[in-house]
Amino acid sequence: MSSLPVSISSPQPTPLEVLGQVFGYQHFRGPQEAIVEHVVQGGDALVLMPTGGGKSLCYQIPAIVRQNAGHGVTIVISPLIALMHDQVGALIEAGVSAAFLNSTQSFEESSQLEKQLLRNELTLLYAAPERINTPRMKGLLASLHERGLLSLFAIDEAHCVSQWGHDFRPEYRSLSLLHETFPDVPRMALTATADALTRQDMIERLKLEDAREFVSSFDRPNIRYTIVEKTDPARQLLRFIESEHHGEAGIVYCQSRKRVEEIADTLQDAGIKAMAYHAGLDSALRQQRQDRFLREEGMVMVATIAFGMGIDKPDVRFVAHLDMPKNIEGYYQETGRAGRDGQSADAWMMYGLQDVVNQRRMIDTSEAASEAFKQVMRGKLDALLSLAEDTRCRRVSLLGYFGEASEPCGNCDNCLQPPAVWDATEAARKMLSCIYRVQQASGISFGAGHLMDILRGKATEKVAQYGHDNLSTFGIGSDLAEAQWRSVLRQLIAKNMVRVDAEAFNTLQLMPDARQVLKGEVSVVLRQQALASKADRPRRGSKTLVKTSVKGLAEAALNAGALERLARLKAWRGEVAREHNLPAFVIFHDATLRAIAEQAPQSLQDLEGISGMGTKKLQAYGAEVLRVCAASA
Ligand code: ADP
Ligand code: ZN
Repeated sequence: MSSLPVSISSPQPTPLEVLGQVFGYQHFRGPQEAIVEHVVQGGDALVLMPTGGGKSLCYQIPAIVRQNAGHGVTIVISPLIALMHDQVGALIEAGVSAAFLNSTQSFEESSQLEKQLLRNELTLLYAAPERINTPRMKGLLASLHERGLLSLFAIDEAHCVSQWGHDFRPEYRSLSLLHETFPDVPRMALTATADALTRQDMIERLKLEDAREFVSSFDRPNIRYTIVEKTDPARQLLRFIESEHHGEAGIVYCQSRKRVEEIADTLQDAGIKAMAYHAGLDSALRQQRQDRFLREEGMVMVATIAFGMGIDKPDVRFVAHLDMPKNIEGYYQETGRAGRDGQSADAWMMYGLQDVVNQRRMIDTSEAASEAFKQVMRGKLDALLSLAEDTRCRRVSLLGYFGEASEPCGNCDNCLQPPAVWDATEAARKMLSCIYRVQQASGISFGAGHLMDILRGKATEKVAQYGHDNLSTFGIGSDLAEAQWRSVLRQLIAKNMVRVDAEAFNTLQLMPDARQVLKGEVSVVLRQQALASKADRPRRGSKTLVKTSVKGLAEAALNAGALERLARLKAWRGEVAREHNLPAFVIFHDATLRAIAEQAPQSLQDLEGISGMGTKKLQAYGAEVLRVCAASA
């Protein structure tokens, strides 16, 4: 039997009909159509699509089509218990029969759901990975399978299965059980991030060797990447938010809990709506803040990386990193949370020498990890460092890291304001030989601060104590300021000529690559140390096509009547969202409201075909929307 969403009119809907009638979209995006076709036919699939690319529909539409054809329920494995309520709420709003099973439910509630499942009344069931392994869940899956009611397994955030990924969740390992127990049930794994190593690991762990791979372009053209030098982080951040994103929603990532709290306070003191989020807060407070972030407009979340996976808020306008992340995968995943709605957004990171030292130390001193593991992590950190110091287009470097070739984008700091470079061969040689001489003279190594003092000829106590003012390199670098030396040093580290030895008090060690420079065999070209004020923001030039903001243009194009309608529609949406205890964007996206406001609809027919207006929503809200529009006409 079928339990089609109320909104579907034809008995055997095609994927395209489901897309239009349930979700209110006219066209598939990129590879969605091919993926949906393949999975509807019962094929296994591995889907790599950037955040915001539209992964959800890739399993939701097959789930609907297959259930209608008598195949039963699709089990969605998602690590995000805290978000299941909203994910399921969004489906129910669209008229799809969906539910979640998680530890917050009572025995009674779970039993109720199990009955519904056995009666084939659910199209999608969301569950956390640790659930899958419980005796009760295994029993339920077996009963469903016996009845031919296990349609599809969709494993979301599949990179969590790999320890090479940046979100390793041991519970994901048990998911290989799905294939072992139910080899005939189709499976799909979806992720927004995976370098080659993680991808391979994921395929092996989830036994997806025979699955068809669908790899989308990872480009997110509406996101502008900027990496600035860290000088005065709190002040730089404030200036960035105030000048670029006043009143807009954003996420600020910091390394430590303490720092999260400090920065949240700073923003609040400056009158910015901000909250702190990290794993040290109790889970009720975390949930409450997450809900507020999703539900209120213009909220800034200051967080550790504990925050963000699965956050599908479409209008996050910026993601700022106050500290350097561990690797490019993490960075790209986190920045991907900006601009899911396709409108212009910023990914803005700052970094400094201290970040490099900290990250290195965390890797080197982690006791749990094997040497081989540390080696991989160091390599990943180095890749991120090179990105930070790169003078080429950031997008070209980022996409290149994921194996994708591209052209300079015109929408990153390096494209908008090409960094000046200088021949730093002389400076590099001074720095490298100073490290060498000090080591040789003292038999031990020293840290960055002391080395720069020697180079710049500063007669500190420590210099006197070790007699380093007698070295031939004492004072040979007085021509450059300390900030410049820092920049040189950072770049030499990024180029793997110098290493920070975290196990030996962060002292500096020469690496084999330094030799050629010392011998004068190769020259060194470095990025010019930009002045902080300039580096913070590439100046708006004629190339700032995207930043002229799709949103800005769209809003500007609305006439006064439409603007008024839009304001009323937003207020109305806010009330509905509160009543339903869902984020506003789950009711209608901004873009849908804008289209309605512009249309000035007179009848339900006028509303049909507006993107985001599925049949169920038309039935549920059409009349109200017309009333709200008329009232403002
Ligand atoms: P992902 O999970 O890949 O990050 P989502 O599934 O959340 O992305 O989709 C991102 C946004 O794009 C959502 O707001 C979704 O409604 C929208 N979207 C997805 N597919 C389409 C489509 N074919 N047409 C229009 N909008 C779409
Ligand atoms: Zn670029």
